[in-house]
Amino acid sequence: MLNNILQIIYLLASVSFIIGLKMLSGPKTARQGNFLAAAGMGLAIVATVFLFQSKNGEYLGNKIWIFAGIAIGTILGTLSAKKVKMTAMPQMVSLFNGMGGACAAAISLIEFTHLDASSPSGMIFVVVAGLVIGSVSFSGSIIAYAKLQEIMKSTKKLPGHNLLTAGLLIGIVVLTALLTVGQINPTLFYLLFALSLGYGILFVIPIGGADMPVVISLLNSFTGVAAAFGGFLYDNQVMQTGGILVGSAGTLLTVLMCNAMNRSLTNVLFGAFGGSAPTAAGSGQKSEMAVRSTNASDVAMIMHYAQKVIIVPGYGLAVAQAQHVIHEMEMLLEKNGVTVKYAIHPVAGRMPGHMNVLLAESNVAYDKLVEMEEINEEFATADVVYVVGANDVVNPAARHDPSSPIYGMPILDVDKAKTVIVSKRSMAAGYANIENELFGYANCMMLFGDAKKTLSEVVAELKSM
Ligand code: NDP
Repeated sequence: MLNNILQIIYLLASVSFIIGLKMLSGPKTARQGNFLAAAGMGLAIVATVFLFQSKNGEYLGNKIWIFAGIAIGTILGTLSAKKVKMTAMPQMVSLFNGMGGACAAAISLIEFTHLDASSPSGMIFVVVAGLVIGSVSFSGSIIAYAKLQEIMKSTKKLPGHNLLTAGLLIGIVVLTALLTVGQINPTLFYLLFALSLGYGILFVIPIGGADMPVVISLLNSFTGVAAAFGGFLYDNQVMQTGGILVGSAGTLLTVLMCNAMNRSLTNVLFGAFGGSAPTAAGSGQKSEMAVRSTNASDVAMIMHYAQKVIIVPGYGLAVAQAQHVIHEMEMLLEKNGVTVKYAIHPVAGRMPGHMNVLLAESNVAYDKLVEMEEINEEFATADVVYVVGANDVVNPAARHDPSSPIYGMPILDVDKAKTVIVSKRSMAAGYANIENELFGYANCMMLFGDAKKTLSEVVAELKSM
């Protein structure tokens, strides 16, 4: 009876994950989707602790330990999620993902001690695969965290890096095969554990720059697969559903991000985009480009008399925390009859959806956020484009300069507008460390200074008109 109730709860939890995930795909429903899936997960955990019975009819013991663990995890998770800056979100995702990988590996480390030569090879494989994938995900995510947090700066390959990585991979395959055919040898198992940890480290070391989120998303999908293996091991459907959803969502996100940057996954993993030294076109904004600078009063004037203004938010908006003041500017312009829209590039900011989340925080209406494909057709009809702290995602070189590292990346065609205003602090390069020719275009004006400060000045000017 209790087992039936548990299975029904698992079913409900699985459904909550699926609906929650679906709701995450739109800004209007994302928060509720997150709460729904978290509630489903909470329910599944509590139900397992109280209702699960082993084959001998025993209930779970160690409840104090379990709840102490849950309490510590909940406090740490809540505090760090509340404290984290939007710009540091990718490293937090990476760290949490690493914890998921570590859990999957820990399950395998424990369950290995229950195996012997008579264990079915399917079960041995599930334990071994969970160990390998969980460990790679753990060590890889920790390296990714260290890089994003700038604790670790180098993206240089070690001497003989490729050979070493290939050697580790071969070792992992051979040991996995040996263990699966029944060589239940702890030495082999722990050696496999060490090789997998090493592989995760070497795999992420050479990757850097804008490729980091792709790697994090890939590692995230690994963690999902490792958790699904745990689900097979315990014949636990909610773990299987959760793991498979994370695995497939992570894989899809990886593919979508690669498409948004117009790069193949192989190129991301082995091409060292962010890892390479800046190209001749890169190394910051050093060329002799003639740029025109402007001031808040002129910017306010141009926008006041415009019919249509498109705002392009980028990473700098998040750094400056200018999301509230930009909304204020939008409202002032609209009050004056100007049509205002926001152009959202899929990789603007430092993680997928960064700009949507930031603007939602300041209550910008969702229907004002327009995706790249749609808004690109509108730039030609805009009187003013106001680029705030965005750089790479508006660089026209991506369209026409085959020597540019971002060549082929779809960009926001802001240069097609009548007037482009770029708000940033200096002529410094963006994340891809390449020069932006847009700044030298005849229809482009630079509004130098911190985005929040300059926007506040523009708002003050608009109010006085
Ligand atoms: P960029 O990093 O290209 O440019 C941001 C610009 O903001 C900089 O040039 C900087 O110029 C300016 N800036 C920084 N602080 C401030 C401030 N306080 N006030 C005003 N301006 C400021 O950002 P984009 O959003 O255009 O592009 C995103 C880049 O990040 C892409 O290369 C993308 O591939 C990459 N990326 C995207 C991820 C994603 O999933 N979304 C994840 C990881 C990387 P200055 O210093 O002169 O002020």
